[in-house]
Amino acid sequence: MSTLRRDFATREALVAYIAQEFPEATGPVSPIRGGRQAALAQLAAIQPETYGDTRNYLDGTVTRLSPYLRHGVLALTEVRDWLQQRRYSWKTAEPLVRQLAWRAYWQTLYDQWGDGIWEDREPYKTGWQPEDYANDLPGDIPDASTGLLCVDSFSRELQDTGYLHNHVRLWLAAYVVHWRRVKWQAGARWFLEHLLDGDPASNNLSWQWVASTFSHKPYYFNQDNLARYSRRRWCEACPHDGRATCPFRGSYEQLARRLFPHADLHRLGTRR
Ligand SMILES: Cc1cc2nc3c(=O)[nH]c(=O)nc-3n(C[C@H](O)[C@H](O)[C@H](O)COP(=O)(O)OP(=O)(O)OC[C@H]3O[C@@H](n4cnc5c(N)ncnc54)[C@H](O)[C@@H]3O)c2cc1C
Repeated sequence: MSTLRRDFATREALVAYIAQEFPEATGPVSPIRGGRQAALAQLAAIQPETYGDTRNYLDGTVTRLSPYLRHGVLALTEVRDWLQQRRYSWKTAEPLVRQLAWRAYWQTLYDQWGDGIWEDREPYKTGWQPEDYANDLPGDIPDASTGLLCVDSFSRELQDTGYLHNHVRLWLAAYVVHWRRVKWQAGARWFLEHLLDGDPASNNLSWQWVASTFSHKPYYFNQDNLARYSRRRWCEACPHDGRATCPFRGSYEQLARRLFPHADLHRLGTRR
């Protein structure tokens, strides 16, 4: 087997070489740059002061360090050390350190469970049985042809860039599992195919958390939540905005009744 070339004068030369070696890879080139220099530049640009308050917003100051952390180009401890050297208070540094800790925690579980991360760790708490969920992803989701501006945009962004904001991952995963009633494993496989930070532990256990097979209740959202954290980026132009045809419209209680008609709503925490 011949080894791939690693020395290129320019990024364009690298892209041309990859296109030649993998003619079946016809999608766009991700804007994310690889390599240690790019990782250090990304680290130098992180904004811990605003991270905690803004990380749930799509325009928040998230770090985008995940591809580098995933592939060992940057260590978790380097990010911690960077925060310590700049003498950020614990209050400022904690929200970011907490997220880094999630990554470390998922890795620890992966070490223990191995391929067991592909199995439901617990029963679904949705009132549905595993056999009620489809095995495969419906084609309109990867084809970005569901007709929902937000979901189709998430799907394209995943496939075109190899990166999604954490909130978008949560929304898209919840849509796949709860609105389309597809097994989380099908969604997890799809994400791993495209994410540049694709990591079996962080990915599968997050999917299981959304699905409720590794948490005490399912994660789902409503249009208010999506509109708020995306600042109505898609709702503005969506033909379903303000209409009953938007599948995300309604209170959490109304959505729970629709999505999980056999579940105990008290257990889902939708009623006080
Ligand atoms: C359904 C789903 C699938 C996911 N799949 C992956 C995956 O394949 N690979 C992956 O690295 N992360 C995954 N995540 C976790 C998280 O979404 C990404 O790590 C994060 O969005 C990466 O962007 P960032 O570097 O800007 O994150 P930041 O918010 O800036 O966080 C800094 C770092 O902390 C770690 N981190 C942040 N949030 C999480 C989290 N919830 N769980 C574990 N680590 C976290 C990451 O290493 C991240 O780079 C997934 C989350 C969900 C809900």
